[in-house]
Amino acid sequence: MAKGNISIHAQNIMPVIKKWLYSDKDIFIRELVSNACDAISKYKVLAMKGDAPAAEEYRVDVACDKEAGTLTINDNGIGMTAEEIEKYICQVAFSGAEEFLKQYKPEEGESSGIIGHFGLGFYSAFMVSSKVTIDTKSWQDAPAVRWVSEDGMEYEIEESVRTERGTTITLYLNEDDKEFLDLYTLTSTLEKYCAFMPTPIYAQEIKPAAEPKEGEEPVIELPQQVNDPSPLWLKRPSEVTDEEYRDFYHKVFHDYEEPLFWIHLNAEFPFNLKGILYFPKMKNEFSASEGQVKLFSNQVFVADNIKEIIPEFLLLLKGVVDCPELPLNVSRSFLQNDGYVKKVSSYITRKVADRLTSEMNTKREDYQKYWDDIHPFVKYGCIRDEKFYDRVKDALLFKTVDGEYLTLKEYGDRNFTDDKKTVFYASDEKRQAQMIQLYRDQDKDVVLFDTLIDNNFISFLEYTGKNEISFRRVDASMEGLTESSEVSEETRKDLEEKFRKSLRQEDLEVKLEKFKTSELPAMVTVEEQSRRFTEMSRQWGRDFSMPEKRTLVLNTAHPLIEYLKDADADSDMTEMVMSQVMDLAEMARQPLDSERMIAFLSRSNKLLTILCGK
Ligand code: ADP
Repeated sequence: MAKGNISIHAQNIMPVIKKWLYSDKDIFIRELVSNACDAISKYKVLAMKGDAPAAEEYRVDVACDKEAGTLTINDNGIGMTAEEIEKYICQVAFSGAEEFLKQYKPEEGESSGIIGHFGLGFYSAFMVSSKVTIDTKSWQDAPAVRWVSEDGMEYEIEESVRTERGTTITLYLNEDDKEFLDLYTLTSTLEKYCAFMPTPIYAQEIKPAAEPKEGEEPVIELPQQVNDPSPLWLKRPSEVTDEEYRDFYHKVFHDYEEPLFWIHLNAEFPFNLKGILYFPKMKNEFSASEGQVKLFSNQVFVADNIKEIIPEFLLLLKGVVDCPELPLNVSRSFLQNDGYVKKVSSYITRKVADRLTSEMNTKREDYQKYWDDIHPFVKYGCIRDEKFYDRVKDALLFKTVDGEYLTLKEYGDRNFTDDKKTVFYASDEKRQAQMIQLYRDQDKDVVLFDTLIDNNFISFLEYTGKNEISFRRVDASMEGLTESSEVSEETRKDLEEKFRKSLRQEDLEVKLEKFKTSELPAMVTVEEQSRRFTEMSRQWGRDFSMPEKRTLVLNTAHPLIEYLKDADADSDMTEMVMSQVMDLAEMARQPLDSERMIAFLSRSNKLLTILCGK
């Protein structure tokens, strides 16, 4: 039996790299510039340990040259010897970075600041180039080397004329990829991926010097720095001012509104994670989906809105999260199964929940002001993640129609009775004004649930509260608005018959109650659960046309109902009064449909005419 190792050859792997490894072509910039930054970080480590002299300035220069068709990335980092090129560049998938880390192991909790992991990044250059050269001079005393390859598979190594320590990568761009020779495109790509890399990065276009006009100085375009090497999230929260947080927000998210507040994530143990999450001002419920959380790994941009790391509901926020332990070429399937990723995700959730609770406990007035902006997000979070709900439940507020903000406990203290734990709510302050007023007259608080998420949120609260507390819209029943009174079943049946007949509504249900007010003859109520069901199915785009359970509740304390009890069911007047009572009750909930509206108006005019004796 023969045994052997399966070897990977460049011929097999190059097409894979070109096609699959990176979904976005422009990522080669990230890879090469981060290699350059790494080379500088490595040199800094050597200088710090006293093995090499410190440099005056550390920098990466990226330059495009339309005429030559080249893009160059130059650094004054550690450089490479011919042997190192052989080892690190020519052995694809052998990660030099990993070996370096083994040698210079960072202390516990300290990040090495070295980005590479896979030993494949450099080869992304071949996604866009027909030829790549490396000119490099090692920090060690060794001759400078030039490496040239046209396809990433065959290469030549020769001596280089380079005299300065460091590395220059030159890409001869393919015809199709010449866009990167445009300074604007180049700068935006650098800003996308490298905006916070740890070494100053400059971009510049190499142009033949324009002939200066007579008597004028020649114009020299200086390279522009494209990055901020020490991003705010790496600073200690106690050292950052509110103004700095705000400036960072405006700059990074191009949002001119002020953020409401922010959380500075700053964990070192059990894993390294830094970041800032902002709660943006939301213009309306729908703009909530415009959040953006940028994920970085050691100051290198990875991607926006990776929902495996940032729980989906938190993607309504805007922010930056830097997880140095995260591999750069993150694939979704890897992330989904990664224990580390799950820990990061629940850490972030916990921090957000704790922050909300502490805002509520220590700055209640400010928190109440934010609540209108943040409540859809908080509610969504509760529904999506029960752990989040558990941590944040004491910071949930209910806004009343009178502009107060109450916790559930505060609402309960004021409104619950021993046997009834009902929260009364309105979903439309104007349409439900009359019902709201009835509750107000009884000193009951009505809270406002008027966003899309609320129906789901209410059901969620009932469910998690094991139905001990229930939520009822103000027009769902007359609970709390009536007094006990004796009405015979016979009278009820009789009135029900009369109404059914004159309104031609066979299935109308009629109830008799003694309202606490004698001003209203009747109300129409719609049973809570059936209404919620209809609304939710409509929200999901389905219409089950399940009839809502409506009841006409008559007020025995009102003279009109007294009158109708004994009225002749066949007279025109009785029919008109009944229709009018029904329509008015209906209108207190929602507008009439057009046919009924016309009938109502003409009947109203008729009644007025009769009233005037004409
Ligand atoms: P990775 O960075 O993931 O290790 P790369 O293919 O990007 O993989 O690079 C392989 C190795 O080549 C690096 O680890 C490093 O040792 C070396 N290297 C690449 N670019 C540079 C550079 N600009 N200066 C010095 N060494 C470099």
